[in-house]
Amino acid sequence: MGRSGDILKTPLNVAKATEPYSHSRLSVFEQCPRRYRLRYVDKVEVEEAVGIEAFTGTLVHDSLEHLYAMARDGQVVGWEQLTARLRNRWDELFDDSVFIVRKDATPHDHLLRAQSMLMAYYRSNYPFDEGDTVGLEHELRFNISGSREHEMIGYIDRLTCLGDGVYEIHDYKTGKRMPSPAVIGKDRQLALYEIGVRRSFPDVKEVHLIWHYLAFGRQMRSRRTPEQLERLEADTSALIEEIEGCVRYPRQEGPLCRWCEYAGMCQEHDAPL
Ligand code: SF4
Repeated sequence: MGRSGDILKTPLNVAKATEPYSHSRLSVFEQCPRRYRLRYVDKVEVEEAVGIEAFTGTLVHDSLEHLYAMARDGQVVGWEQLTARLRNRWDELFDDSVFIVRKDATPHDHLLRAQSMLMAYYRSNYPFDEGDTVGLEHELRFNISGSREHEMIGYIDRLTCLGDGVYEIHDYKTGKRMPSPAVIGKDRQLALYEIGVRRSFPDVKEVHLIWHYLAFGRQMRSRRTPEQLERLEADTSALIEEIEGCVRYPRQEGPLCRWCEYAGMCQEHDAPL
C-alpha cells in the first residue's frame, strides 16, 4: 500500500512532532511508516541487538575521533598506539550480545578488518593536519522552512575549516559497498548537513561534502548548488509534513523486515492515531 492514501493533514497531527528530525528518522518513515510509528510515535522499547558490522563501524569511528581529537591538540597518535587502543576498546566492549549473521567470518576477522580500514586511512591522511578541526561528532541543530519551520538535528563525523570560508563535511563509511557518483550526487544526509553548516557559520563561502569509504581506501566528493539545496529543503519539508499528517502508518514489508527490531509485533499496532 502507498503512503498517500493514509495522509490527513490536521493541526492535531502536527502536535505529534516534538523532537527534531534527522536524516535517519526520515529514512525510517520512507522505508516503513509502521516502523516509524513504533519507534518515534509510540516509542515502543525493544532490546536492539547490535550486529558485528555496526559494532566494527562504531569502533572505527571512535578511533578516528580519537585520532583527530589528539591532532587538534597538537599530538599525532602513532599507528601502534592507535591499533593498541582499538584492540583494547574491542576487548572491553565486545560480548555475546553482538550478533553475527554471516558465519564465514569470526569476530577476530572483523577486528582485523577494522585495523585494515584504519591502516589505509592512516597512511593516506598522516599527519592529520589538513585544515582546522571545527568539530568531531559535531552536533548541528537548524531549522528548515516550508509552510512552517521544522527543527533538524545531525551529527557530522568531522567538520573542518580550510580557511577563507571553505568548510569540509567528512563522513566515514565502513560498509562493503561503494555507491556510484550519481548516488553520491543525490545523497540527502550530507546535503542537509550543508544547510545546517551554512546556517550555523556566517563566514561560509563553500562547503565540500566528503565520504571516506574506508574499506576501499577511497574518498568521494560532491558539491551542491544553491538551487539543489533549495529543492532539498522544500522536499524535506514536504516529507515532514507528510509524516505529521500520517494517520495509519501502513506496514511496508520488504527485505529490511529481516533487520527490523519490531518484526513479529508490528501488526498489533494497527489502530489509527
Ligand atoms: S517488520 Fe517490516 S513491516 Fe513490520 S515494522 Fe518492521 S519493517 Fe515495517
